[in-house]
Amino acid sequence: DSLLSVRGLTASVDEKTILHGVNLDVAAGETHVLMGPNGAGKSTLGHLVMGDPAYSVDEGSIFFDGQDVTELSCDKRSRAGLFLSFQAPVEIPGVPLSSFLRATIAGREGLEMKGKQFRRRVTELAGELNMDVSYLNRELGVGFSGGEKKKVEMLQLLLLQPKLAILDETDSGLDVDALGVVSRGMDAYRKQTDGSLLIITHNTRILEHLKVDRVHVMVNGRIVREDDASLIPWIDANGFDTFEREAAAQL
Ligand code: ADP
Ligand code: MG
Ligand code: MG
Repeated sequence: DSLLSVRGLTASVDEKTILHGVNLDVAAGETHVLMGPNGAGKSTLGHLVMGDPAYSVDEGSIFFDGQDVTELSCDKRSRAGLFLSFQAPVEIPGVPLSSFLRATIAGREGLEMKGKQFRRRVTELAGELNMDVSYLNRELGVGFSGGEKKKVEMLQLLLLQPKLAILDETDSGLDVDALGVVSRGMDAYRKQTDGSLLIITHNTRILEHLKVDRVHVMVNGRIVREDDASLIPWIDANGFDTFEREAAAQL
């Protein structure tokens, strides 16, 4: 009864195999964390689950909410309730952020909102994220800082209320402001929905206020360890060296 079930996923990009037989399950309402050294394939897995056409599935399947979505377009997966945060929203001079956010939810069943209603909802959410409302009139992406891009992502998450949100944090460090936005956003998502989270991160600080159900460690395109939240402080103290050595020994 998993919400997301990745089964034996082997996948490649540009003819290069990145993932080797990955299995990963996330049940409804759970918070999972995917960790691992740089280049392990964590972001690749996120893109594959979302259906990014740049990546190809060579073996295995992806099931979501009772449906085999392996062959579905990104757009259809989004409508089925999947969400992947993207690290760098595009710059579109002349388009205000509010219009972009409205377009994000337009056409999504049950989410159509009148202008006034949308305005009220967005203002309320901006408040929860400690965002200045004037910000919504700014041009999309133009001169947005890393923290501001994170705020946009969190607004999208809270407007869309997906069944599963995959939040892929940048490898570059987030500043304190951005960390606060991510924490508040995840917190609000948790309170407002019964959706699941799959958080890809190096920064265990953003996890401090969350109840994490399961941690998955990926090395060289393979899940090499799965455990409960106690694995997080262990990784903080010991890093990924042990896992990398074990993985190398098995080659
Ligand atoms: P992680 O998120 O764990 O740091 P990635 O999934 O970004 O790892 O990358 C895993 C491997 O796949 C790396 O060797 C990376 O160079 C390669 N890779 C990822 N995306 C692409 C792409 N679009 N084109 C070519 N190689 C890619
Ligand atoms: Mg990386
Ligand atoms: Mg990554």
